[in-house]
Amino acid sequence: MIVIKTASELKLMKTAGRISQRALRLAGEAVEPGVTTAEIDRLVKKYIEEQGAVPSFLGYGGFPASCCISVNNVVIHGIPSDKCILKQGDIVSIDVGAYIGGYHGDNAWTFACGDISEEAQRLLDAAKQALFEGIKQAQAGNRIGHIGHAVQTYAELRSYSVVRDYVGHGVGAKLHEEPKVPNYGVPTQGAKLLPGMVIAIEPMINMGSHRVKVLKDNWTTVTADGKLSAHFEHTLAVTPDGPVILTLPD
Ligand code: MG
Repeated sequence: MIVIKTASELKLMKTAGRISQRALRLAGEAVEPGVTTAEIDRLVKKYIEEQGAVPSFLGYGGFPASCCISVNNVVIHGIPSDKCILKQGDIVSIDVGAYIGGYHGDNAWTFACGDISEEAQRLLDAAKQALFEGIKQAQAGNRIGHIGHAVQTYAELRSYSVVRDYVGHGVGAKLHEEPKVPNYGVPTQGAKLLPGMVIAIEPMINMGSHRVKVLKDNWTTVTADGKLSAHFEHTLAVTPDGPVILTLPD
């Protein structure tokens, strides 16, 4: 069932989105050579809790940390670790959500650690723009398929591939609600978008094949071919005036 949010619920979701966004920005500012992903996770947890919110991911399905930090060929669900020391040239995908007032926010961004290669930078630029191409299609009256089609077209025209095994989702009182929001497809597919729907669009864009595999920890999801992957995500509301991103800076 797709939950339509009222104006007052959207206001609460904006608060959750803003805290999620600030936590993500803080995490991104901490990305530099020599820092461990566990240190970044601790910063995120401290910040979210100081706001009176709860890290959405902590304990979700048993996830052991407050954010996912996925380095280089790790696509998503990387577990922060004291053993994972960032180094110059890494690309670092951080996914973080905050729960407050009964609602979640969810957002992700891939950050450069120091100077990165030109090809890595091109991947980041394309994945980020693919997200915004998807967001542009989050218009009342469009279908979910318009979003995935826009993301896929943008990425594949640049010779990148779109991960199939993981998709975006509705967001609300639960972190993951209906509908599923694939980053691929055709405009005739999926539910019709209605004002008051809140969704997270989150393309995972690979430099090589779209295939991924999950490591033995049952979380860490890597590219099957070992090539780089980038991940960008915003939570947004569909409104009569177009998409309103809830995870933006003030
Ligand atoms: Mg998400």
